[in-house]
Amino acid sequence: MTTASARFLIVGPQGSGKGTQGVRIAEAFGIPVVSTGDIFRANIKNGTELGKKVQEITARGDLVSDELTGDLVRDRLSEDDAASGFLLDGYPRNRAQVGHLDEFLGDRDEALDAVIELAVPREESIERIALRAQQQGREDDTPEAIAKRLDIYERETAPILEVYGVRGIVDTIDGVGSLDEITERIFAALAARGLTATANA
Ligand code: AMP
Repeated sequence: MTTASARFLIVGPQGSGKGTQGVRIAEAFGIPVVSTGDIFRANIKNGTELGKKVQEITARGDLVSDELTGDLVRDRLSEDDAASGFLLDGYPRNRAQVGHLDEFLGDRDEALDAVIELAVPREESIERIALRAQQQGREDDTPEAIAKRLDIYERETAPILEVYGVRGIVDTIDGVGSLDEITERIFAALAARGLTATANA
């Protein structure tokens, strides 16, 4: 069975594994991943105007402005491949961005179908990011930037789950376990909402 629409958001602290799980879900549902962090990193790598604007901000672990990020996401979600579904990773990240996304989707008579929260204790997040820092050498994986990003997550991003929680669309998934176990938990939660992927049927 193919789901008519699959508009998902995956939320979790840095190091929760949301990037990896997001790709798996998106592949199964045949939808694109829209990761603002990846878009910023690609622009920085390619030395674009946007990349130059955001390089220092992201390296410090601070948030890029809501306006700039919102414009970027609108453009991306307006592309053909996102017409009937997408998986957002890293956006929205605060209440203001939730408002921007609501406005954009509302204009198109669309809404998010599910918000997947990957719950991982702070200590475990820090361990996983430290490991990634060794493997990938991300510019914002310094101890200072990591601490700042986790603080911003707890202060600004976690509260968006309350907003979506009121709408009854949040599935909180235990993010501790093997990659496959966690993927199974996510698929089970989505299936309970009647959201089933073709590749997962
Ligand atoms: P991420 O890969 O999601 O951790 O994002 C890496 C960095 O990109 C963040 O630390 C921010 O500097 C920036 N960024 C990504 N998404 C957003 C967003 N929705 N709003 C503002 N800044 C963002």
